[in-house]
Amino acid sequence: MSEKITSQKAIELEDKYGAHNYHPLPVVLSKGEGPFVWDVEGKKYFDFLSAYSAVNQGHCHPKIVEALVDQARTLTLTSRAFYNDCLGPYEKYITAYFGYDKVLPMNSGAEADETAIKLCRKWAYDKKGVPANEAKIVVCEGNFHGRTTTIISMSTDPDARGGFGPYTPGFVIVPYNDIPALEKALEDPNVAGFLVEPIQGEAGVYVPEDGYLKKSYDLCKSRNVLFIADEVQTGIARTGKLLACDHENVRPDILILGKALSGGVLPVSAVLADDHIMLVIKPGQHGSTFGGNPMAAKVAVAALEVVKDEKLAERSEKLGEIFRSELRKVKSEMIELVRGKGLLNAIVIRPKNGKEAWDVCVKMAENGLLAKPTHQHIIRFAPPLVITEEQLMEALEIIIKSILVFE
Ligand code: PLP
Repeated sequence: MSEKITSQKAIELEDKYGAHNYHPLPVVLSKGEGPFVWDVEGKKYFDFLSAYSAVNQGHCHPKIVEALVDQARTLTLTSRAFYNDCLGPYEKYITAYFGYDKVLPMNSGAEADETAIKLCRKWAYDKKGVPANEAKIVVCEGNFHGRTTTIISMSTDPDARGGFGPYTPGFVIVPYNDIPALEKALEDPNVAGFLVEPIQGEAGVYVPEDGYLKKSYDLCKSRNVLFIADEVQTGIARTGKLLACDHENVRPDILILGKALSGGVLPVSAVLADDHIMLVIKPGQHGSTFGGNPMAAKVAVAALEVVKDEKLAERSEKLGEIFRSELRKVKSEMIELVRGKGLLNAIVIRPKNGKEAWDVCVKMAENGLLAKPTHQHIIRFAPPLVITEEQLMEALEIIIKSILVFE
């Protein structure tokens, strides 16, 4: 097993022995540091995906890795059948950090979304007085909240849901960024929550109009509906603030976090809420063997400390402005639109001479930068937030050069 593998061999093995549920760019990575990754042949790349924004703190951040390794040598898992000496301090830290009474720790983003759905439904029955099994959650067209059966039941993406029915009922879908549609949906007294991504990441970095989040939040308040923000991708400094909801001074009733909560070293997710919501879930009603494990607790504290210590939100805000303004100067028919917030950005590609977003991504990889198309014609750019301004300018040169090849 220790023999060095070639890219070709690694791809062959995945193809032969792995399920074909992804379509990766043909690069095989074996090392990462800060904003860079290296392939098995030693070629260096800028990572402009950051594992879908999980690696905001940069690859293998020494402080986070140290927290992981130290704890791995001491105690890795107790389950929640017993207390451990890391979870309580982590819970105190993260609730103070984001300003909530309580946290419920999980692992993947999808699990955290599932948790929020259960929490919202339980709140509807226990607190709002919705009749049993009648609670509804309003979600948005184009949403992405993960891959579980319940979550794909509220998806509008044919790839995500097609062929996987029957679907979980209880969701009402409204267009994203459409306040009148939301207002109408909220007229139903059985609506318990509105689940929304502050920016739709997987859909292609759709940024709603300024004021959308605040207006949605106010509507929810007027109808006694919980405003639930899925900040799995947008949270933890990615968009230039700690949370994307901070851009509009909205404090979600239920906050969902994942990905960068561990800086990309472990699956760590969390749901935050105040007591009057969170305490509707009683012992035995929800949980996970690995949720809140000692390694996750230590890693999450370190990952959140790095965000503050290294001022990653401020850096993301400043570098994001530079990134978009430089790209908007480029004269290329292939660039239909540049959009984003902080360092969560996208270019909408107009195909030219049969060349599409995928071809641009392959060219960028040849030139030393990794990014991935989403929905065929959109390329998302989300580098680790530790990238320096100088490195960003270098990366921009690669991106621009790779697009101009097709002119
Ligand atoms: N929610 C959002 C907004 C996401 O972008 C994602 C993943 O991309 C998820 C949830 C699911 O997270 P995970 O892949 O960790 O289950």
